[in-house]
Amino acid sequence: MPELPEVEALAGFLRENAAGRVLARADLAAVQAIKTFDPPLSALAGLEITGAGRHGKFLDLDVSGIHLVVHLARAGWLHWRENLPTAPPKPGKGPLALRVHLDDGNGFDLTEQGTRKGLAVYVVRSPAEVPGIARLGPDALLVEREDFARLLAGRSGQLKGALTDQTLIAGIGNAYSDEILHAARLSPFKMADKLSEDELVRLYDAMRATLTGALERQRGQKAATMKGEKRSGLQVHARTGLPCPVCGDTVREVSFADTSLQYCPTCQTGGKPLADRRMSKLLR
Ligand SMILES: [Zn+2]
Repeated sequence: MPELPEVEALAGFLRENAAGRVLARADLAAVQAIKTFDPPLSALAGLEITGAGRHGKFLDLDVSGIHLVVHLARAGWLHWRENLPTAPPKPGKGPLALRVHLDDGNGFDLTEQGTRKGLAVYVVRSPAEVPGIARLGPDALLVEREDFARLLAGRSGQLKGALTDQTLIAGIGNAYSDEILHAARLSPFKMADKLSEDELVRLYDAMRATLTGALERQRGQKAATMKGEKRSGLQVHARTGLPCPVCGDTVREVSFADTSLQYCPTCQTGGKPLADRRMSKLLR
């Protein structure tokens, strides 16, 4: 799933390549992707793209005051296209959700792989009209340490859930929360409101270092190469069974109904593996 660094880099890419151009047409291919009806998608046609930005994990294309807001969900992505075909795409076929044509013949596709469709497109006069944006907590790259400490202190539940709760702190998802907790040497199951002063500092510094490091690697990448760049920078996420780059211990996994987390026992949990629901299911 694209998280803060990828969405920020995509916004930067669009500022460089799409801002200043006129949005010629937007073709909707996946009807369920669009979540708003007023203004209609057709209202964007003929207007100049004046900026691109980010709210948490939402991408925001400013089209002369009308905002095309996109949440890429789990398997969505933006593909920059040169010389787009002019014929409208066939609706409901393949991964294409929305195609945006610019006046110079270039443009981009928003696509989503897999059968579970979560990619969401909103056409709004203000980004705050998008419910998911209105609910966002402070941005993970902007939140001050004192505010971060206060937010966690008021939160019951485990760190993994706290870091990925967009209403608490915006921008972090499954991958970077694994990376941040590993860098902070904290268990994903540690209670958010039970951190010592030292642990809070470690977590805050790890959050900033992990996200800015990823952003540095993504910045200037073409949209097509960002995903590979993200994967190459990961220490524990999606690396189950591989050695931890810090200590050499084997990266382990805890799986849930529809997701999983990865961590290093030596770095994060005092060498003790965490209980894994799937493992106990296998033993039943
Ligand atoms: Zn380790």
